[in-house]
Amino acid sequence: MGKVLVLNASYEPLNITSWRRAVVLVLKEKAEQVEHNGKFVYRDFPLPTVIRLRQYVRVPYKEIPLTRRNLLHRDSHTCQYCGHAGDDLTLDHVMPRSRGGGDTWENMVTACVRCNVKKGNRTPKEARMILKQTPRRPYSSLYFEVTKHLRNGVHQEWRKYVIGM
Ligand SMILES: [Zn+2]
Repeated sequence: MGKVLVLNASYEPLNITSWRRAVVLVLKEKAEQVEHNGKFVYRDFPLPTVIRLRQYVRVPYKEIPLTRRNLLHRDSHTCQYCGHAGDDLTLDHVMPRSRGGGDTWENMVTACVRCNVKKGNRTPKEARMILKQTPRRPYSSLYFEVTKHLRNGVHQEWRKYVIGM
């Protein structure tokens, strides 16, 4: 039946939950329905796709693990040098590891095999290859999760709540 985006009382996105849990929150009046998709759980009760908590909750920042999968997602599965999108993507250390470059969000990008080989043991500047964007740590794990759903083409109605996150 799909997932539901939970907004804080302040309208900031908080997390993603199951529709069942969302319905319970609404029935218990802990949350209000903000968006629904026209389907009904039962008569007069539309299935929510976005709900908002009535009480504000504080949330600590959650680290996003630096993994190949997450790096590929951050870089939209495209080579950060030439824009190529395909199955032959590798991870490139902007400052090569052999020269002290570390495994960090700021030093790792998605690169196609061709660009990775061409760049070799050089910095982008030395290789005269320009990065499409400066690599950085993702804003929040929720932002990460939400953009995954949006890129898969589902829950487009969430989009207006995640702008500027
Ligand atoms: Zn490339």
